[in-house]
Amino acid sequence: MARVIKIAISALKKTEMFNFTLEHKDGLARAGCINTPHGEILTPVFMPVATQGSVKALDRVDLECLGTQIILGNAYHLYLRPGTKVIKEAGGLHSFMNWARPILTDSGGFQGFSLQHLRKITNDGITFKSHIDGSTHELTPESVVEIQTDIGSDVIMPLDVCLPTEASKTDLSEAMNLTSNWLGRSLRSLERKSEQPLFGIVQGGLHVDLRQKSAEFLSSLDLPGYAIGGLSVGETKEKMYPTVEITSKLLPENKPRYLMGVGSPEDLVECVVRGIDMFDCVLPTRVARKGAMYTKFGRRNVTRSEYKKSDSSFDKDCDCYACTNFSAGYIHHLFKAKEYLAYRLASIHNLRFLMRTMGDLRKAIQRGLVKEYREQFWENYQPADQSARTNQALRHINRFE
Ligand SMILES: [Zn+2]
Repeated sequence: MARVIKIAISALKKTEMFNFTLEHKDGLARAGCINTPHGEILTPVFMPVATQGSVKALDRVDLECLGTQIILGNAYHLYLRPGTKVIKEAGGLHSFMNWARPILTDSGGFQGFSLQHLRKITNDGITFKSHIDGSTHELTPESVVEIQTDIGSDVIMPLDVCLPTEASKTDLSEAMNLTSNWLGRSLRSLERKSEQPLFGIVQGGLHVDLRQKSAEFLSSLDLPGYAIGGLSVGETKEKMYPTVEITSKLLPENKPRYLMGVGSPEDLVECVVRGIDMFDCVLPTRVARKGAMYTKFGRRNVTRSEYKKSDSSFDKDCDCYACTNFSAGYIHHLFKAKEYLAYRLASIHNLRFLMRTMGDLRKAIQRGLVKEYREQFWENYQPADQSARTNQALRHINRFE
């Protein structure tokens, strides 16, 4: 029987510290380096989402080739399927998926938002009805930490309460207080088990006073990193960006800042200039599977008839596997024929586009040219999302300049 050849994966050692070095600043934008037991991560960084232990349609080699430094898994999904025990017995998530680089896992707090019809929040935790078989499961701050220590995440996220943007201030305040309370329980639970880093999550919707209270409390705990949650949950970008800026300014400068669930090209540019270091989002791979591929001018749909006879690469500026090996006409054909390869090639391209954007932003920060980079980006780019409005409107709402 053939043997699965596993790549060398360094074991998590308690003595190996997670740390962040802030290397350069340009305005609020930052370039830095995060050290983890599974390697270093140069920031700003975009983390492709591997909810169920797989970035949809891609494998490890694809991810490595396009320059992926860290991926994001989801504790809630992996706990339901294949189950924590299966992953633990396989030697952890790195070994199970044969991925040697860092992994951050989200807690399931966001599924408390996205699967609202399947959940109930109490002071103890979140009770979910499984979207797979309808069975009932209770996630508590403690159980969520245990899942993530068992699967060997490089960064653990605590259970939090994420509400939609239209929630009342009273509800948002309660959600924030419960998130803070659960963080305390998560930290106490983690202390007994492991030294894996656990980030705090700032909540508070679009209310400055709530964000301030949440950020001050979390900052006082001197955590290894800080996430901003509860954004990209239905609000417009003109409301989201100032909230990102206000919140990031409230967080300690010497720790990484992670904006959860945000990741269109324009969001990356606009939020890096507001002080964010880490991002994740399902958008680039989700739209890729519909044929929407990024270019410096905005999203273009390769299924449109104008690409049918094209024998050039989809994006002449792109160095990805799809653009350097196949014509736009061929990718167009794959989508029309519903061939699986279409989803893989378009996903590779979109993720590579974001990796190059982050790499270019990092260089611009190092050279003190982030303002010029941003101007140039907006000279070309037309966002697909109408709530992003025009590039001129975006410039007006930015108080960074
Ligand atoms: Zn490409």
